[in-house]
Amino acid sequence: MLQVKNLSFGYTDNPVLKDINFTVKSGENLAIIGESGSGKSTILKLIFGEYDLEHGQVFWKNTEILGPKHNLVVGYDFMKYVTQEFDLMPYTSVANNIGKHLSRFYPEEKEKRTQELITIVELDNFAQTKVKNLSGGQKQRVALARALAKEPEILLLDEPFSHIDNFKKQSLRRNVFNYLKEKNITCVVATHDKNDVLGFADEMLVLHNKKIIAKDTPQNLYKNPKLPLIASFFEEFNSVNNTIYYAHQLKIVDHSDLKAIVKQSYFNGNSWLVEAIHNEHLIYISHPESINADEMIHFKILD
Ligand code: ADP
Ligand code: MG
Repeated sequence: MLQVKNLSFGYTDNPVLKDINFTVKSGENLAIIGESGSGKSTILKLIFGEYDLEHGQVFWKNTEILGPKHNLVVGYDFMKYVTQEFDLMPYTSVANNIGKHLSRFYPEEKEKRTQELITIVELDNFAQTKVKNLSGGQKQRVALARALAKEPEILLLDEPFSHIDNFKKQSLRRNVFNYLKEKNITCVVATHDKNDVLGFADEMLVLHNKKIIAKDTPQNLYKNPKLPLIASFFEEFNSVNNTIYYAHQLKIVDHSDLKAIVKQSYFNGNSWLVEAIHNEHLIYISHPESINADEMIHFKILD
């Protein structure tokens, strides 16, 4: 189990995190979400032991994670961290970057393991390519594979798919998160992308104003977002009568006391997002078709 206890931290006199407490069970996936600058990356760095802690403690199982004052080399063998920068060897091939930390005394095992990881990050056609000739997204995939090479007990991922294009993102997420579950690797992932969370995280933690404002399963937070900040992470939403409704929870009907004037319709793939003015406020409603500007609509709230 990972335990973060009473953690408060600032790079300067300005606090970045205040009184952070949470645990992650072995083999579970915790997503940390929050706006840019809310301290997601800082939490990962503190879990990794990059800084000495003045307030609070971090434990992995029975080991207290200590910072540079106590460790000549930052980090521990059981933990890997894929940062927002990737820190690869540019003049070396993809395969050699991934296998770098695997023992050369077991060449067959090393080869097999490297190949397995190359397939997980879908870089089979680039195994012998030098890293300097790869795109940003491809480099990010090499960094992921390298972190997995030695099968850490716990993996820290910072915006792990941010550089990867939409064509590859979906399958890569499934490959990586399924692999972690299969190997029972505990994972903490910082992200601002709901697709990294829904379907993969066992729990999610929301950071705001230096504190944890919610921690629950993605299902519970989605169904009952409580705060606009949480709802906005998932979808377009409305506040009607002080209650939060997603765009798909409002429905355009023929007759209703709730009226609005359409401003614009946005194509959204499976549906259109109709932007309209209701009681001088903008509202957003999912609808199967586009509706012209200035039309009056009636809508109801679905339970
Ligand atoms: P996030 O990952 O959620 O975008 P960060 O953890 O990177 O947020 O940053 C949290 C806050 O700490 C920000 O206000 C940022 O400017 C500040 N910060 C991050 N790294 C440093 C640093 N090395 N020195 C000083 N301030 C920092
Ligand atoms: Mg960050």
